[in-house]
Amino acid sequence: MVMTESLMIVFSLLTGMCVGSFLNVCIYRLPAARSIVFPGSSCPSCNQLIRWVDNIPVISYVLLGGRCRHCHAAISPRYPLVECLTGLFALCTYLNWGVSVASLIYFLFICALITLTFIDIDHQILPDVITLWGMGAGLCIGFLLPDMTFMDSVIGLLVGGGSLYAVAWGYQMMTGREGMGGGDIKLLAMMGTFIGWKGVIFTIFTGSLIGTLIGGAIMVINRKTLKLAIPFGPFLSIGAMIYLFWGPDMIDWYVSGIGGIN
Ligand SMILES: [Zn+2]
Repeated sequence: MVMTESLMIVFSLLTGMCVGSFLNVCIYRLPAARSIVFPGSSCPSCNQLIRWVDNIPVISYVLLGGRCRHCHAAISPRYPLVECLTGLFALCTYLNWGVSVASLIYFLFICALITLTFIDIDHQILPDVITLWGMGAGLCIGFLLPDMTFMDSVIGLLVGGGSLYAVAWGYQMMTGREGMGGGDIKLLAMMGTFIGWKGVIFTIFTGSLIGTLIGGAIMVINRKTLKLAIPFGPFLSIGAMIYLFWGPDMIDWYVSGIGGIN
């Protein structure tokens, strides 16, 4: 048993890292509307095709000293970072939900969030091709997740899309400028189909809190004004991931805490 368990841990970690390698391709190519399948990866500096030996997640980066084999241009540490991150999430998913349909669906959901996060950081956009297809997928398979029904996905979609739309509308009414992009609304609607309305509300609060703290810190360091454009998508993604792994426990703890005071 212990043997199988260790094997599964290594297997999920390695599989996750390979998937992370594919996510790197998506992060790089989706905003440019390029095919994610063809052609193979090439060096952004010298366009030389990257051979498979130089394309092994994390290991190749370390062996090549973080530089292209041909032109010696520095390779962004973001590539191994995304691979490690995806590997760790694959492992956490396995440790939480074991070998199950829920594990697979949650992992796909997490992969979408990782991809969206880095695209949002680079380009301040959240491509429809992920959020809209994600919504469709959530409606089709969300009910297979623990504690979710088809209606939960539908309500999650409406609450996710609706609540952020209301916040964005209110913000624009009060300040006269656009604060949140339509991409954030679609992202939250997509999240709703996987984590339901409770997850959506948790995500908005947690994401806003983390965003305010980090945004505030960046502003203090840079001494910039409030208008500084910080993408909201990554914070919503972090909020949703916290919900996936700890949210229900945190809500129980919070609710029982209030009950305890009374
Ligand atoms: Zn090169």
